[in-house]
Amino acid sequence: MPLEAGLLEILACPACHAPLSEQEAELICTGQDCGLAYPVRDGIPVLLVDEARRPA
Ligand SMILES: [Zn+2]
Repeated sequence: MPLEAGLLEILACPACHAPLSEQEAELICTGQDCGLAYPVRDGIPVLLVDEARRPA
């Protein structure tokens, strides 16, 4: 389920404040030194560093 149009534009990574990129069921931080992947549950982004998946 795509996120509401315009929502991505106002969302930023809580760790580094870089823009986020929607990929499958996650929002990926575009920060070069960050790259955390935030889950989207029931269409609602969970922008919590504790819930984010660390890049490999
Ligand atoms: Zn980040």
